[in-house]
Amino acid sequence: MILVLEKEITQVKKSQLKSILAEKGCMVHEQEGGVQNILGVIGRKSLTKEFLMSLEGVADVVPISTAYKLVSRQMKQDDTIIRIGNVEIGGNKLTIIAGPCAVESREQAMIIAKEVKKYGATLFRGGAFKPRSSPYSFQGLEEEGLRILAEVREVTGLRVVTEITSPMYADLMMKYVDIIQIGARNMQNFELLKCAGRMGKPVILKRGLASTIEEWLMSAEYIAAEGNQNIILCERGIRTFEPYTRNTLDLSAIPVLKQLTHLPVIIDPSHATGIREKVSPMARAAIAAGADGLMIEVHHKPEEALSDGPQSLYPKQFGRLIRDIYVIAPVVGKQLIHDYTGYSAENYDSLSSRYQLSAGGTGTAESENSRQEKRVVYLGEQGTFSHKAAIQYFSSDVESYPVPSFRDIFEEVKSGAADFGMIPIENSLAGSIHENYDLLLEYKLFITGELSIRIIHNLIAHKDSRLEDIKQVFAPPPALNQCRRFLNANPDIRLVPVNATASAVKSVAESGTLEDAAIGSVEAAALFGMTVLEEAIEDNPRNFTRFVIIERQMLNDELKSNASLIKSSVVFSTSNKPGSLFEVMKVFSENQINLVKLESRPIHGKPWQYMFYADLETDLTNSSADGVIKAIKQNTEFFRILGSYNCGKKGSDSI
Ligand code: PEP
Ligand code: MN
Repeated sequence: MILVLEKEITQVKKSQLKSILAEKGCMVHEQEGGVQNILGVIGRKSLTKEFLMSLEGVADVVPISTAYKLVSRQMKQDDTIIRIGNVEIGGNKLTIIAGPCAVESREQAMIIAKEVKKYGATLFRGGAFKPRSSPYSFQGLEEEGLRILAEVREVTGLRVVTEITSPMYADLMMKYVDIIQIGARNMQNFELLKCAGRMGKPVILKRGLASTIEEWLMSAEYIAAEGNQNIILCERGIRTFEPYTRNTLDLSAIPVLKQLTHLPVIIDPSHATGIREKVSPMARAAIAAGADGLMIEVHHKPEEALSDGPQSLYPKQFGRLIRDIYVIAPVVGKQLIHDYTGYSAENYDSLSSRYQLSAGGTGTAESENSRQEKRVVYLGEQGTFSHKAAIQYFSSDVESYPVPSFRDIFEEVKSGAADFGMIPIENSLAGSIHENYDLLLEYKLFITGELSIRIIHNLIAHKDSRLEDIKQVFAPPPALNQCRRFLNANPDIRLVPVNATASAVKSVAESGTLEDAAIGSVEAAALFGMTVLEEAIEDNPRNFTRFVIIERQMLNDELKSNASLIKSSVVFSTSNKPGSLFEVMKVFSENQINLVKLESRPIHGKPWQYMFYADLETDLTNSSADGVIKAIKQNTEFFRILGSYNCGKKGSDSI
């Protein structure tokens, strides 16, 4: 049952209500963050609606209509985000799990782990107990395999996933691995599900070979009913009449599950297709369909693999796939978790001090206290795209707060009030945000990262408003400009410019009139309890804003991933003589450095003289770049490196 509580209910009354329910043997789940105050209640003996309605503080009782309760979206509207060390699965993150089908030897596991990590996996997979169709096939290295996995984690920092085939291995799993997997063949092994629930470690629950989505969710409910809601659902293909691929990948399960459950959903295109060439196309489709991550089999010598060689990607193929995923991710509002975001397990130690992450999620009092210590500052107010970027880039441990101007962001970071600033630098339709270029020069702060956010504008109004009712629309001028076509088609609507999309949504929420609407994000609508009347009303869907992260110090080498993925931003001025900009460009060209952006800004107080801002695909802070820097300096009057940071893509892929 879902209990909708009275709006003004006090904390004391709420606690009393919860203890009455607990006495009746109910599990109570409180929903946080929404507009309504909600308790989800589950009991083995069902309590009558009349009894629940009679309890003090209860405004309404709505039955959960599905057989699965704890894992249902009705029980919890927000997406569940599962944390494994410093890696998160779910929400707006994309997480890549990769590794061989089976751990075959220490050497094999180490080679593959280093390769997949290099290309962007943040979790390593490898079977130690293999459920094979034939008793004569390789069955896995068993405990020795688990020991190797633990060693892989030790050496590479990647957290490890392996399959548990029987409750009798629970103790071994607790000792050696971070996530347990329940394989397709065991999806309805109820004793194993209950055991996984009691173990409390995150569980990847694969869909059975011939199971319906409902049966799958009922299996997840078994785990949750034991008190463990750290469940990741993994679609890996089902049996159909089609023999060409090993199984048929049911991608429609992604949107179906997204509606039915709050649990994250990942896709395993390797077991789904069984054919190497088919893995990448299906992986790309899965991300486009809204999956929260991928599990991919990778082998450095697939022709010699002891199991599933034909479906295993070569490391380089895996790398190519991840680059494609990096490009697709912002289109569907997601961010790929990769070394270059600073989230990788390799960087865990330096990160824990940078972000004050608590180890392993089982926070001690001390680490709980330090969780909120790091702060990121952004422009505007809650619900803006800048806020979205801040949440998306940083882990939930980093506190975010808004300030009214770009200059304030620089001031907050400079003074140490904030550790990070989130700065929009350019929009794919509107061009550069010049004020921030000037501020980057004025303040001696450094760029340490970047991310792109897709900007989708929606017409937002009150729940009972219809488009015909709307008389005025609140929005900032750039948003009005980007929605010209829609607004022209509705010429009777008056346009009211305001500062930010979130303030527009907020003022409509506060006005309470059905004639007002705002342009803003889905997140802002949810934040202020409003509804989306018309989705995606921007003229051009290729609407992205690129943000950079600023800090007081440069990114250190530990936090940089792999040289081919590093970008440097620089600012320089040249002397006022013919060909001087050309001379600088020549240095880039002669050193095979790809220039991905060049921007000029007038120098204050020096009419008709310019500063040039360039983004280069190279790491200029590496000592191997000393010669390049010397050559640039010879051809410039002023030169400064704004930062070298992970970007994860080559120019041609960029959005
Ligand atoms: C595996 O992931 O190695 C595996 C055996 O998968 P599934 O249970 O989906 O067949
Ligand atoms: Mn396999």
